[in-house]
Amino acid sequence: MTNRHLIDPIISFLEHRKLQGMQSIAISSESLAYIRETKSPTVETAPAPKANAPTVDTAPAPKANTPTDETAPDPRANTQTIKTEQTPDSPVPASDGIVQEEAAPYNKPDLSQYDWEKLEALVKTCTQCPLSESRKQTVFGTGNKSADLMFIGEGPGADEDAQGIPFVGVAGQLLTQIIAAMNYGRDDVYIANIVKCRPPGNRNPQDAEADKCLPYLERQIELVDPKVIVLLGAVPLNYLLNMKGIMRSHGKWMSYKGIDVMPSFHPAFLLRKPEHKRDAWEDMQKVMEKLGKPSA
Ligand code: URA
Repeated sequence: MTNRHLIDPIISFLEHRKLQGMQSIAISSESLAYIRETKSPTVETAPAPKANAPTVDTAPAPKANTPTDETAPDPRANTQTIKTEQTPDSPVPASDGIVQEEAAPYNKPDLSQYDWEKLEALVKTCTQCPLSESRKQTVFGTGNKSADLMFIGEGPGADEDAQGIPFVGVAGQLLTQIIAAMNYGRDDVYIANIVKCRPPGNRNPQDAEADKCLPYLERQIELVDPKVIVLLGAVPLNYLLNMKGIMRSHGKWMSYKGIDVMPSFHPAFLLRKPEHKRDAWEDMQKVMEKLGKPSA
């Protein structure tokens, strides 16, 4: 008998949660039997505790919330542990619930097999950092998924958080003008940010937040495979290239995994310091030249 139409969503849920750092879940014996029946290749099950084994019969039941409770499954409970292969053995205390998740140390996920659809779904449900608690919605990225030119900003502000689209606020309007002046439309280029959720009060993303979010951007860059990346300000310079000093770096060609990178100014900075708009435009002219793009 095959239950694939029921089991596939479960497998995809487990894979998804594994990428989000989940190490193991507890599952009822009935559900486990159900999964075993389908012979799922992606879920590895821990050996079931042997029924009536001497240790089970003679050992006193571990008390709830004791250290033993955290490291050994209660053999009397009607649940078993499914490991997700990512981390050393770490069983979950058994309970009568079907799914019981355990916090895990962060392992950088391997997203190399993620297509756009899977990646966006993963980002949408991400809870890897506290920004997920205050966001209205995630801001994944927008534009041409095969663009020659990609712009990378810091993170969503209030307008982006409300609309789910990067660079739609006042700074975004200036970016749109810059893109138009380069003889492109917003739909010709791809636009994304270092973090996908709004940092409260529009502060810069913190290291831990950027570190957790970076694998999503790295995969977006892999998928777009642009010829040129423009970094908008100090934050993407810091997190993508691990470099400080946008004032001295802007306008100089750099490289990220073989892709030409042009650091330049963030449009919000240009709104505050319009005297730097000329510098930014010179940076963009270098980009156009590299892309063989004639001026309008
Ligand atoms: N600033 C950014 O860095 N990104 C946005 O999406 C909007 C404003």
